[in-house]
Amino acid sequence: MNLRSLRREDFRLELLLGLGKTSQVYLARAPDGTEVALKLPRKEIREDERLAQMFAQEVRLSMGLNHPYVLRGLAGKPFGSGAFVALEYMPDGTLDTLLRQGRLDQERALSILTQLLEALIYLHGRGIVHQDIKPANVFMKGDVAKLGDFGVARTQDHPDPLERAGSPFYMAPELFSGNPATAASDAYSLGVLAYELLTGKRPFYGDSYEALMAAHLTKVPPRLPASLDLHPKLAQRLQGLLAKNPARRTKLESLRRTLGGYYTVEAVPDKPKAQPRGFRFLAWLRRKKR
Ligand code: AMP
Repeated sequence: MNLRSLRREDFRLELLLGLGKTSQVYLARAPDGTEVALKLPRKEIREDERLAQMFAQEVRLSMGLNHPYVLRGLAGKPFGSGAFVALEYMPDGTLDTLLRQGRLDQERALSILTQLLEALIYLHGRGIVHQDIKPANVFMKGDVAKLGDFGVARTQDHPDPLERAGSPFYMAPELFSGNPATAASDAYSLGVLAYELLTGKRPFYGDSYEALMAAHLTKVPPRLPASLDLHPKLAQRLQGLLAKNPARRTKLESLRRTLGGYYTVEAVPDKPKAQPRGFRFLAWLRRKKR
C-alpha cells in the first residue's frame, strides 16, 4: 500500500518510542498494518517559525529521498496543526544505544560504517550536507543502519542551515571557526563515528563546548590502535577523515574505493538482488587471525 496520501489521524498510536528535540515519536500502525515511527511535532515547535521550518525540512527531505541506508518518510504533512511524519520503523533503536552496550565486533562496525558512507555519498550527490552525523541519528534494524534526522541539513534550497548544528563531539574543526558545513565536514564527523565504532571510544573528549572546540582545532587525533589489525590502507583512509584541514581530508569516494576493495556489506534486506562485490577484506582479516 502506498501510504503517502494518509493523514495523521489515519495512524493508530501504539507506544511512545521517544522524545526528540522537536517531537514525540510513537510506534503507530497504518490502516494496512504497516508499523511506522510517527513523529509529531510539539505545539511550541509548530508555532515557532524557525523550529517549524526545521520540522518541515525533515518531512520534505525524508519523503523525497530514496536510499537503502537513509531513513525514509512514508507519509507526512510539513506544517500546521496536523503536521506529522511517518518514518520507517527501526525496531532496534539508535546506534547510540548500541554503542553504550559495549564495543562492536569489527565486522559489524565496518558494515555499519560502509552503510553510513553510502548514505552520505548519496546525500552529497544531491547537494545535501547532513550536518549532524552522530550515533543518535543512526537507526538500526538488525544489521541495517539508516541515517535519519534531516532537520538541520544544508540543502540547495536552504543554503543557510536553520541551525549551526551538530554535537561538538562530532563537529569538524572548520565549523567551530564559523565556516559553513560541507561534504568535507560531514566526512570528518563520519571519521569521529568510525573511530568510535571501531574502538568504543571517541577520539576527543572535553567537559565543555570550549574544551571540545580546542581539542578538535588543535589536538593531534589519536591513532587507531594497531591491535585492531586493520588493513594499512583502510587505517590510513580512516585516519585521514580526521585531518584538520578539510582540503587534505580523505574524500568519501576514496574511502569507498578502499572499503569496496576490502569489505562489502553482506546482507541488505532492502536490496535483495544486490550482489556482494567481494570479501577481500574479510578474507584478509581471517587470514590475519589464523
Ligand atoms: P528524534 O526526534 O529523531 O531524536 O527521535 C527521538 C527518539 O524516537 C529516538 O531516540 C528513538 O528512540 C525514537 N525514534 C525516532 N525515529 C525512529 C524510527 N524511525 N524508528 C524507531 N524509533 C525511532
